[in-house]
Amino acid sequence: MVCAQDVHKRYGRDEVLKGIDLDVAPGEVLCLIGPSGSGKSTFLRCINHLEKIDAGRLSVDGELIGYRERGDLLYEMHEREVCRQRASIGMVFQRFNLFPHLTVLENIIEAPLHVKRESKAEAVERARALLQRVGLREKADVYPSRLSGGQQQRVAIARALAMQPKLMLFDEPTSALDPELVDEVLAVMRGLAEDGMTMIVVTHEMAFARDAGHKIAFMDGGVIVESGPPGEVLSRPRHERTQAFLARVI
Ligand code: ATP
Ligand code: MG
Repeated sequence: MVCAQDVHKRYGRDEVLKGIDLDVAPGEVLCLIGPSGSGKSTFLRCINHLEKIDAGRLSVDGELIGYRERGDLLYEMHEREVCRQRASIGMVFQRFNLFPHLTVLENIIEAPLHVKRESKAEAVERARALLQRVGLREKADVYPSRLSGGQQQRVAIARALAMQPKLMLFDEPTSALDPELVDEVLAVMRGLAEDGMTMIVVTHEMAFARDAGHKIAFMDGGVIVESGPPGEVLSRPRHERTQAFLARVI
């Protein structure tokens, strides 16, 4: 579903991604862990082309992200095409970024109505089903400011799902939450994983990574130092850098 080959990204002279190779199969949950500044968010942002890569290849569902290929050459995609690709990749951030002036339901139907041009009836019906799924059926007509952080984050997940993405990217979705609100968000993510959603999750929640992740990738200094099943990477890390990181966070 996601295939990264030797992906490089620099900001000015600062090379932040130094050759990322990664494969995520359909239905797989990849947990991306690593110290601050290692490039985890940058990599996620490259996947949905919020950032342009400088070298390498990045594809989702067999389609190159941001570029068209003709012969041996790559051409940058038209913005319209980028938007089409982005619409099929859901992203949830640390901060919920809900539209404060819209109700919960309006937040969820916004993109389906204006980006996908769905009918209002169809969008509302799916939004209500998604609210049910994230346990917030009764909050449809409430404004985000009336919700707890955990509830807002569940709305943000429902809003991303409303576009019927083939891939969901999560960037530390629980790290801005009070500890008692973390589990309700992780429970929604576990449900998604069980339903077969392909997910890449940047997280410091090692318990979640261990039991919901199919694969763990440890990133440090712009490279993936090691990756594999949780039982290997978390329990028997091979690299010293992974061992040192895990000793700090577990
Ligand atoms: P954290 O765990 O703190 O979220 P991270 O692994 O997500 O860290 P990134 O946010 O991807 O790390 O940042 C990787 C490096 O890229 C950092 O050194 C950061 O300062 C740099 N960086 C990120 N975004 C930009 C930008 N827009 N312009 C310049 N440098 C940037
Ligand atoms: Mg980050």
